Amino acid sequence: MFTWLLDVLFPPVCLNCRQSVKSGESICISCFSNIKIFNTLFCGKCRARLPSIALAPGLRSQSGSFGGVGKESLVTIKKICHKDFPYLLGAAADYQDETVKQLVRSLKFGFIKSAAGSLASLLVSYAEGVNYRITAFTVIPIPLSRARERKRGFNQSFLIAKIFAGHFGLELNPNILVRDKNTMAQSEIKDFEKKRDNVKNCFSIKSLDSVNGKNFILIDDVVTSGATFFEAASALKRAGAKKIIALAAAKS
Ligand SMILES: [Zn+2]
Ligand SMILES: [Zn+2]
Repeated sequence: MFTWLLDVLFPPVCLNCRQSVKSGESICISCFSNIKIFNTLFCGKCRARLPSIALAPGLRSQSGSFGGVGKESLVTIKKICHKDFPYLLGAAADYQDETVKQLVRSLKFGFIKSAAGSLASLLVSYAEGVNYRITAFTVIPIPLSRARERKRGFNQSFLIAKIFAGHFGLELNPNILVRDKNTMAQSEIKDFEKKRDNVKNCFSIKSLDSVNGKNFILIDDVVTSGATFFEAASALKRAGAKKIIALAAAKS
């Protein structure tokens, strides 16, 4: 009822071009389709694109990529330059894209929750394009500290992760990883070393049993230095995690 009234009083418009959009949506189809979506995974350390060998089109499954049912990856990564790095990086789009930047800012600082849907759609399109099949991965949104989540009222990464996991039928578990330290916002720190110090050891694992031997997809809205993903992935690795893919809607 309340949403309906809001829609009548303030008809929803595209955050980018101000054209009217359907209720619950944040950008129009044409602005969405103008966003350039990446088509490879990246090395977490040096950000090199990781070329992959796709199977013949005839072998593609109907169920799509991430979360699809099958024994083997649809695509295998040809060569990973930094094998010992704790995660492979996935990023849907470039943060310098004005529409993407607008979506992230509207969600984080404008509290426009419908933007999470568009960012999740970017991740879904990206994951389908990359076609790296993942059968048994648990999705973990990068947690905020309790103080910051209370202040904002929600965790933007959780909103994105929930839609993403739902789309691919993957398990979502926001309770495995806990952010103990109330760190400064990474966006407020310019220096790479300082960013790393700011998040150092800020995560701990709540239930070790649910980590050992398992695969994880970490989700965040934006990746900049990668220091936050690194800390989270390292904590999971120390607890015995196998494969980790760190996915961000945008990378800068
Ligand atoms: Zn638009
Ligand atoms: Zn590398």
